[in-house]
Amino acid sequence: MDLNIKINDKGHLDIGGADACDIADEFGTPVYVIDENRIRDNYKRFYEAFSKYYPDFKVFYACKANTNLSVLKILEQEGCCIDAVSPGEVYISRKMGFSGDRILFTGNNITNDELKFVLDQGAVLNIDSVSALKRLAEIIEPNGLKISFRVNPMVGAGHHDHCITGGVMSKFGIMDNEAVEVYKLAKELGFNPVGMHSHIGSGILDPEPFKLAIESTMDIAGKVHQEAGIDFEFVDFGGGVGIPYTPDENIVDIDTFAKENIALFKEKLEEYDMGNPTMYLEPGRYLVGDASVLLVRVNSVKQSYRKFIGVDAGFNTLLRPAMYDSYHHIVVANKMNEPNTQEVDIAGNVCESGDLFARDRFMPEIEEGDLLAILNAGAYGFTMSSNYNSRPLTPEVLVENGKCHLVREKETFEDLMAKQTIPEHLQ
Ligand SMILES: *Cc1c(COP(=O)(O)O)cnc(C)c1O
Repeated sequence: MDLNIKINDKGHLDIGGADACDIADEFGTPVYVIDENRIRDNYKRFYEAFSKYYPDFKVFYACKANTNLSVLKILEQEGCCIDAVSPGEVYISRKMGFSGDRILFTGNNITNDELKFVLDQGAVLNIDSVSALKRLAEIIEPNGLKISFRVNPMVGAGHHDHCITGGVMSKFGIMDNEAVEVYKLAKELGFNPVGMHSHIGSGILDPEPFKLAIESTMDIAGKVHQEAGIDFEFVDFGGGVGIPYTPDENIVDIDTFAKENIALFKEKLEEYDMGNPTMYLEPGRYLVGDASVLLVRVNSVKQSYRKFIGVDAGFNTLLRPAMYDSYHHIVVANKMNEPNTQEVDIAGNVCESGDLFARDRFMPEIEEGDLLAILNAGAYGFTMSSNYNSRPLTPEVLVENGKCHLVREKETFEDLMAKQTIPEHLQ
């Protein structure tokens, strides 16, 4: 099993050197717990794997996976850059110490005001459509501004249809066959297009689709280099490297992944005589996915037509199972050494039938008061959470070498009302 589960002498789940049961007692449940060292290790492993084979390499963390301020600070310290997909992400990243040149903005259907804001912050624009290019030329003086384009490499991959972002059905990027014209147009308008970007999807455990994307993106870049005379400063192949969620999925052998993909990249650079542009990758999930656990308390055990284990969080707290049918491994944090004896459904507290964290899951005997740990909740966990059912947002705890820091307070009922006003005629 590759899920990196640690158990302490008490038979409890260990998170970064802290006892999950102690964390739940101190901070309450539900609570997201982030392991600082795990993020640092993930970053180093990823960076080293690729830079070893191609030193002109940079990691742009796709921060939509987790924008907790401490997570951003940790990655800033490690020397990482940011892939932002909204003005809010650019704003938060700037506040956490990332200079504009360390932020690539890959917007989709963005407004003129958003374009202006992102440029004022100094971020590099990765443009998704000809329309955005033309609008940009109207609202600013291009003056040789360095930009990049997202292209659709016509390859898609991912763990769910919603996570496939390349191919004929995808709303993302400019078409492969219009790229030469678009880069020429950008030059004519006075921009300096120096980058090309693609991102094919999310949750990729196998190097093959990634290689296809590199091949096809490089074929487009090579053509643009030769026919539009663009000297690329960087080529960005997006994110999407997956992590194991089930006990039988394997961890990505990142060294082989890097070696094979870089070999292909270099081959294509040579084929098209493109020099040595910097290679960018944009991992989100890979850096933070396995670094957080969501701790929830069992508050009811119900034998109905099936056996339901009811917990004190729902899809407002962790959406992935309800939204993508995603598997998250779940363990009983206070009974780690007990054998699985029964098949149960683990249900949330939201008033919707689809609010289940697991169906037919083999688990040990579970009683009310037991603590469950939903693993691999660090990517698209808290960032997708909501106040649905008027539930305050969950607190977050950062574990640093066994020491716990509350890094986000639990919201209060007052917070649920904070931004609303009641017009006079209703008072
Ligand atoms: C979401 C996203 C990523 C990261 O995807 P992961 O699967 O988390 O690695 C990278 N680049 C872009 C443009 C994205 O939208």
